[in-house]
Amino acid sequence: MGFEEVHNVVFCRNGKCRKVFRWDGQTEGGDLSEETVLPCGHRISEILFAGSCIRDGRQAINMLEYLDRNELIKPQAYDLIKKKGGRFDDGLNFTVPGEDLTEDERERLS
Ligand SMILES: [Zn+2]
Repeated sequence: MGFEEVHNVVFCRNGKCRKVFRWDGQTEGGDLSEETVLPCGHRISEILFAGSCIRDGRQAINMLEYLDRNELIKPQAYDLIKKKGGRFDDGLNFTVPGEDLTEDERERLS
C-alpha cells in the first residue's frame, strides 16, 4: 500500500528539536501520556488525534501567507510582534509571541 492515513500525531516538546511522530498504537515504545519519551529523547508537547488537524494547520499557514502577500496586516504589527518576543517574516517563518498586546498597544494600532 502506498498511502497510510495519518492520526495520533505528536509534536516534540523541545522547541529546538521540532520532531513530529505518528504513534502506531503499540504501547511497548510508549503511549500518548505525558511521561512518554519520544525517539528523539524528549517528551510530547501536543497530540493531534485526527490527521485533519494537519490539514487545518496548513490552511492557517495559507491564510497567513495570503494576508501578508496582500498587505492585509497592519505595517506596525511586524514591529509589535517582534517587541513581544515573536517574529513574522512570512507564513512559514514566524514565532508566536508569548504575550498579547496591551490595551494601549491595541489602541495605537487602530
Ligand atoms: Zn525532540
